[in-house]
Amino acid sequence: MSTRLQRLRNIGISAHIDSGKTTLTERMLYYCGRIHAMHDVRGADGHGATMDSDPIERKRGITIQSAVTSVDWNGHTFQVIDTPGHVDFTVEVERSLRVLDGAVLVLCSVGGVQSQSLTVDRQMRRYGVPRVAFINKMDRIGANPNRVIDQMRERLNCNVALLQLPIGLEDHFEGIVDLVTMQAVYFDGEFGQRVRRECIPTNMLAEAEAARGELLEVLSLADEELLEVVLAGKPPTVDQVRASIRQSTIAHRVTPVLMGTAFKNKGVQELLDAVAYYLPSPLDRQVWAIDLSKRVEAGAAPAKQLLTSDVNSPLVAMAFKTTVDRFGPLTFVRVYQGRINRGEAYLNTRTGKRHRFPRLVRIHANNHVDIDAADAGDLLGVVGLDCAQGDTFVSAGCNVAMENILVAEPVMRLSIQAQRHEDSDKLAKALERFRRQDPTFHYGVNQESGEMEIAGMGQLHLDVYIERIREEHECAVYVGRPQVAYKERPTRDVEFEYRLKKQTGGPGQFAHIVGRLEVLPEDSEVDFEFQDKVVGGQIDRAFLPTIRESFQDALSCGPLGQFPIVGVRIVLTDGEQHEKDSSEFAFRQCVQEAMRHVILPRAGLELLEPVMQLEVEVPSEYQGGVAGNLARKRGVVKASTVIDGNCRIEAEVPFAELLDYANEIRSLTQGKGTFTMTPNGYRATPKRVQDDVLAHAGMNHQLA
Ligand code: GDP
Repeated sequence: MSTRLQRLRNIGISAHIDSGKTTLTERMLYYCGRIHAMHDVRGADGHGATMDSDPIERKRGITIQSAVTSVDWNGHTFQVIDTPGHVDFTVEVERSLRVLDGAVLVLCSVGGVQSQSLTVDRQMRRYGVPRVAFINKMDRIGANPNRVIDQMRERLNCNVALLQLPIGLEDHFEGIVDLVTMQAVYFDGEFGQRVRRECIPTNMLAEAEAARGELLEVLSLADEELLEVVLAGKPPTVDQVRASIRQSTIAHRVTPVLMGTAFKNKGVQELLDAVAYYLPSPLDRQVWAIDLSKRVEAGAAPAKQLLTSDVNSPLVAMAFKTTVDRFGPLTFVRVYQGRINRGEAYLNTRTGKRHRFPRLVRIHANNHVDIDAADAGDLLGVVGLDCAQGDTFVSAGCNVAMENILVAEPVMRLSIQAQRHEDSDKLAKALERFRRQDPTFHYGVNQESGEMEIAGMGQLHLDVYIERIREEHECAVYVGRPQVAYKERPTRDVEFEYRLKKQTGGPGQFAHIVGRLEVLPEDSEVDFEFQDKVVGGQIDRAFLPTIRESFQDALSCGPLGQFPIVGVRIVLTDGEQHEKDSSEFAFRQCVQEAMRHVILPRAGLELLEPVMQLEVEVPSEYQGGVAGNLARKRGVVKASTVIDGNCRIEAEVPFAELLDYANEIRSLTQGKGTFTMTPNGYRATPKRVQDDVLAHAGMNHQLA
């Protein structure tokens, strides 16, 4: 088995905003010898941190795109996938979670477990990603690692394995006691680069002994081998303890906790050691792909195939991020099985097209190093490859796809227009590029106004793209007011029969259709279904694709507010055609008229609105005000918990009520509240709201 793979760690670093993720990442790169100077994140030198390679990210001080960087530490290679922190970019988070094997969860020693950590934690559980936690900012006033650990137990349900104790706190934080080796560890030099190991200070010995006892207890409960050693009365060796922590971390039985301060350069090297010791290598994880060679009945789970890391197996690799940099298209790929070779051609299982992989590179922020091959478990960049994110590439003899990443539907849209007519092409190119990179970004022409519209996951999501259009693509644009992405849905089945018969001088037009519109169940995975139950050759089969398409087209723009119609099954049961006067045109016309005049007016259409899962976190004195505000927003509070003077409210709230929530929560809580929201499906709107929305609607919302 390859030792490189055993020593490889594909990791992500996740954190609530402002916990110090960027600072920590940069310190890690520095100690691994990848960068030779450190600048603060929003430092005065204007360079920003190395991982945020996008100028807009630097300006906003948030990390949006998942860059990959590779560093060496103590004989190990870490490939750090930069997971975005802001929840408007959930798809990017989900995608990066699919490709990493382990993660570092950064928590602030004062802020503790905050709303974004909760959201990301839930995603990590779904993808089975083991973690180590790092309590950062131990130098800050109010630092309280014990409280953070309690929150991890209560709110994240972690079985905490505390590996360190702090030596001093706040201004007096000097270093840590390592409970595995039972040594004190200090970080000397201007950048804490010299690690000094000493005896534990005598005044901390008793505390350290007790904490080690607790650590061994937690570990023994999760690991029988260690339990036997402990029960035999022998003190376990350092290697035995490390092996036990590793095994239980990978099995999700414990979460190791370390601490330090990235900003003051203390504790980061210990964290790097912990990544090597305790987080899984690609070989420690089982990866399944969807077997495309087996047909699956509608609604059944797809057949799966276990992948192997054997380099002689057929290649399976997934493109998890496509970008364009100064060298042209650059695609980030994870190899899941076999070996990828420069110059070879592989099949894209989504498109059925073969692509040659001309150039393979390893990436460190903006630098590329050419490589000839990469094995299962590795991450790499492919230069000059044309594909979409999430595409799977395989070699001959293999027909699988990596699981599809959950993609949420857009909840917000707005119109966009180039200020100068001659920039229209530039705008169109930029929009197409974004759509290929991000499946939650949509665009299309509004059929009624002829204006271009973009749609996505929220204000910040769309703002970032608008800024990129202006800055990267140098295209000045006008943007319209944000609109909620409503939908329309029938509530009643409708039997229909419609005959088109026109005789206007020249050749006539004739078409006749009979059938039923049925309401699909609310949990249906498709928006539209078409069943052909015409017997006896009443309608020429050649017309059926046109009929199906015409029904589908008619659903793009509903009669209530010109929103798309969903939840429709059309069952065609009968019909008739005329030898001379029937044509595709006639059937198209017939379906359009039938829908407009007969079917939709009788289908009892209702308006659906996107609903968000909202998590608000505020100091408890604001609980009443925030809950009252949510009630006025038609929100349904699901849970409300108070811990240590902080209140967390979970609620389901219509997105339409949350368009300005960032400002509202700021003024309700004097800037002390934070929140996250994730799309949570569509619900019917109450009549009063529906009337109000429809009074203001008037556009067609057809989007790509
Ligand atoms: P991110 O939003 O999680 O990427 O956090 P940043 O790395 O941008 O840090 C947010 C702020 O916290 C910056 O002003 C940092 O200088 C500061 N910061 C980061 N780490 C520490 C730390 O260990 N101690 C203190 N006191 N401040 C820190």
